Amino acid sequence: MSEKPTILIVDDESFNIDVLLNLLGDEYAVIIAKSGEQALKRLEGKTLPDLILLDIMMPGMDGYEVCRRIKEGFRTRHLPVIFITALSNTNEEAEGFEVGAVDYITKPFCPAVVVARVRTHIELKRSRDLLEILAKEDGLTGIANRRRFNEFLDFEWHRAQRKQSTISLTMMDIDFFKPFNDNYGHAAGDDCLRRIGHALRRSMPRSVDLIARYGGEEFSCILPDTDVTGATGVANKLLHAVRELSIPHQYSRVADHVTMSIGVATIVPGAEQGPGLLVDLADRALYLAKAGGKNRVELARHP
Ligand code: GH3
Ligand code: MG
Ligand code: MG
Repeated sequence: MSEKPTILIVDDESFNIDVLLNLLGDEYAVIIAKSGEQALKRLEGKTLPDLILLDIMMPGMDGYEVCRRIKEGFRTRHLPVIFITALSNTNEEAEGFEVGAVDYITKPFCPAVVVARVRTHIELKRSRDLLEILAKEDGLTGIANRRRFNEFLDFEWHRAQRKQSTISLTMMDIDFFKPFNDNYGHAAGDDCLRRIGHALRRSMPRSVDLIARYGGEEFSCILPDTDVTGATGVANKLLHAVRELSIPHQYSRVADHVTMSIGVATIVPGAEQGPGLLVDLADRALYLAKAGGKNRVELARHP
């Protein structure tokens, strides 16, 4: 979040764009769109702006309609929109707020007001982003927390249910972690969890997968559109990633370093089923891995 905040300016008149660029170009990275249609196109890109300055009167799609569509989009609905307009009619201002704008700036511009309002809304947006990250990140390891895990699993489960696609989940639990803590101390235990969290994240190259800390010494990864073979491959990779950290553990009864056990479950969600089923199946497979001697991967036996 340290790089320059980005502003999308949407205006059909080059003169207005130039004035705003002059005012904001030094402090912010600025993207330009010369019509509503072009603005929506820009918002399909991978990175989204932090703020949108939106002209109301434009040929083709007007600013109100652009704003409505931004507020309907799953990815874009939280983007702050400030309307820029020559109109200073309070009815029109009210309509702007109704379609979801956070503020209004009228033309001709008063430079100090433009700069101040933009700065305020950028600051609000950035602190909201930060809160969002903190709310979904595990404080110790920096990977996704249980809240994010639940949200992601719910979303992907329902998508798989609709598309009748395959979804997999691995449940991972560190072997003999209690004796590790008891003998090396809690700080060493925390450090071990941190290193494992990082190693797991490094080993998951697909950006559509999620690796999360599920609980104390349990981790889980959610693998959308992944069949048994794919999921087993990922699980083995994760197993090796932790072994390769070679964190010494002389109180483990299965190795002289820290290891973990992994349960893998794969399913095409049925109409009446919920995401808890996938977690249960992976948990049962994890139990098999523990019972079978730990430091291994086991697959769920299907119901
Ligand atoms: P198994 O091989 O069967 O998995 O046994 P275990 O000893 O790993 O598992 P058990 O569930 O008995 O113990 C889990 C331990 O994990 C308990 C606690 O000492 C440790 N633990 C859980 N959360 C944390 C944490 O946040 N930090 C630290 N340092 N330790 C934790
Ligand atoms: Mg446990
Ligand atoms: Mg354990």
